[in-house]
Amino acid sequence: MSHSSDSRENEPPKEKKLVFPGDELAVSEEYIAGEGTLDERGKIYASTVGIVELDSKERVLRVKAFNPPVTLKNGDDVIAIVSGTRESMGTADVVQVEGKERSVSGDTNGSIHVSKVSSSYTKSVKGEFYIGDFIRAKVISTDPSLQLTTTGKRYGVLKGFCTQCRIPMIRKGNTLYCESCDSTDRRKISSDYRDTMVETEKNMKHREHMDEKEVP
Ligand SMILES: [Zn+2]
Repeated sequence: MSHSSDSRENEPPKEKKLVFPGDELAVSEEYIAGEGTLDERGKIYASTVGIVELDSKERVLRVKAFNPPVTLKNGDDVIAIVSGTRESMGTADVVQVEGKERSVSGDTNGSIHVSKVSSSYTKSVKGEFYIGDFIRAKVISTDPSLQLTTTGKRYGVLKGFCTQCRIPMIRKGNTLYCESCDSTDRRKISSDYRDTMVETEKNMKHREHMDEKEVP
């Protein structure tokens, strides 16, 4: 078995960077896979949403989840992971309020009604989202249950995974493409697809600033 070599292998992992599950962080020859990561076929991947932490002395790589919690309210832009799709309804678990690098407390299990997927007519939630996709959604109700919408260009899939290979897909126009199996899917894609990292780096700076104040 030979490792495929790509240009990323020689770059050190970026600390404080926001990562999603499946993001490639480093090669396992160079680092030990710690909390929040997994080691597969010679590479270390994030297994949770969080911030990259590097123990350079022990050469351990970790992904730290967000803390402390925030409560969801109407109008919040959130990052959620699609947990189910039916004709009339999708479900997604909210993992982050956008711009707040903290975990979310209370009911995080949101629903997206078929009429709230897109501003154009949507026949079924199936085919717009797939289980495991990361989406940006807006909270439209928190009581009696959490309701989300992905209507609008900014909303929809930020990171989609191939249903066959489970690897992150690349945006090509209005579709997502899997480099591994050469398949193409359509989705309700956010205009920020794959640009999420850039946007959240601003938040990282804010967080670093906050962390500095909290050091005893
Ligand atoms: Zn694939």
